[in-house]
Amino acid sequence: MTRSNTPILRIEGVGKRFGPVTAVDNVSLDIRENEFFALLGPSGCGKTTLLRMLAGFEAPGTGRILLDGKDISPLPPEKRPLNLMFQSYALFPHMTVRQNLSYGLEMERLPKADIRRRVDDTMGMTDLTPFAERKPEQLSGGQKQRVALARALVKRPKVLLLDEPLGALDKKLRERMQLELKRMQNEAGITFVIVTHDQEEALVMADRMAILKDGRLLQVGAPEEVYEHPAERFVANFIGVMNFIDGKTGADGVFAAEGLQVKAQGGKPGTATLAIRPENIAIGPPGDLPVSGIIVDIAYHGLDRVLHVRTAAAETPLQVRIPASGASNWKTGDPISLRLDPAKCRLFQ
Ligand code: ATP
Repeated sequence: MTRSNTPILRIEGVGKRFGPVTAVDNVSLDIRENEFFALLGPSGCGKTTLLRMLAGFEAPGTGRILLDGKDISPLPPEKRPLNLMFQSYALFPHMTVRQNLSYGLEMERLPKADIRRRVDDTMGMTDLTPFAERKPEQLSGGQKQRVALARALVKRPKVLLLDEPLGALDKKLRERMQLELKRMQNEAGITFVIVTHDQEEALVMADRMAILKDGRLLQVGAPEEVYEHPAERFVANFIGVMNFIDGKTGADGVFAAEGLQVKAQGGKPGTATLAIRPENIAIGPPGDLPVSGIIVDIAYHGLDRVLHVRTAAAETPLQVRIPASGASNWKTGDPISLRLDPAKCRLFQ
């Protein structure tokens, strides 16, 4: 499916207050046609409220929501060409999978043959064909989740809104469903807007994502952009793992902390926090590389090991990610030396 840069959904200065709480604070962003877009942030950041405003269950206090250039803010949920998939699947327990999918289309009084074709197509896309005659209680959690998704897709909305769709699944199934959901979105050619508090989930699935905190939009971008170039310290910490080192940048642009000096990009003179990812620190025998440390912990992560290295520079041990093959000779308690890749260091001031 080709993706265009045309915005299908435009959120313009949207805000929402509940009494003294500002749930969503003047958010503006464009969601493009056919993209998989994630609204990401910690609990209480306003992502569900924003999604509910898109769906029409909540009226914006300020701003407008445009779909294909038309202001849909005054429209009730059922008049919007958007469909919201709820966190609790809300399947009809007494109906088969086929009946669960057909129901909404029968309500629209579509011809029987059309209903059958659309339901068959959607069951094919969501791998539900073998379960067509089963009732929800005869399905696993992952299968029920697919029925809920299929029921939303069969109505062919322009945009599908999903609120923590994988929240109820165990870790293994969730990881598999992340990839399936992405495949189904691609096949259906429908714009997906998903709410999640799980940064890994957003990184795996989303074409682009928005990071929210306290109702404010902090950054919008592709996963790799946000991971490589976090706009704020909060984003750097929230997405992936980041080491932080407090220190000072001199007039020459060199960042310095106890026992550590790095010529990082774009620093202004003054106090600064240097941020670096665990994969951007190299290790060597003691004395070989500029920063000295002691290994205080080694964590196993499948193909990788994460060494936790205490240094004079940082309050908490620095995390250093290395391939498992390079880790065999290191033990907790060993002295070690480190080098921070200057091109990968980021300064927050
Ligand atoms: P979570 O991941 O925990 O669901 P969220 O990011 O989706 O959180 P929202 O549910 O949008 O956050 O809530 C944002 C803020 O608005 C919170 O402080 C919440 O307590 C408040 N809030 C949400 N809905 C209401 C409501 N109907 N009445 C009063 N306050 C509300």
